[in-house]
Amino acid sequence: MAHAFSKQGGEGWICRKCGKPLTQTSVNVTYMGSSFLVQLPGCETCGTVLVDDELAFGRMLEVEKLLEDK
Ligand SMILES: [Zn+2]
Repeated sequence: MAHAFSKQGGEGWICRKCGKPLTQTSVNVTYMGSSFLVQLPGCETCGTVLVDDELAFGRMLEVEKLLEDK
């Protein structure tokens, strides 16, 4: 699968298709039978959301912590 985004100078990401910087987008993720709204970078022009494995995994750890705190 071709990556639709490229990293820009080590800090933001840009959408290759639109050439625009990504903005934080709310994405509904289902994990362990519950759904969570997580903030992931996405392109507001074409609606594609960047799901970086490392980033997504980090979010999942945050969600797990939230579950444990309850
Ligand atoms: Zn785009």
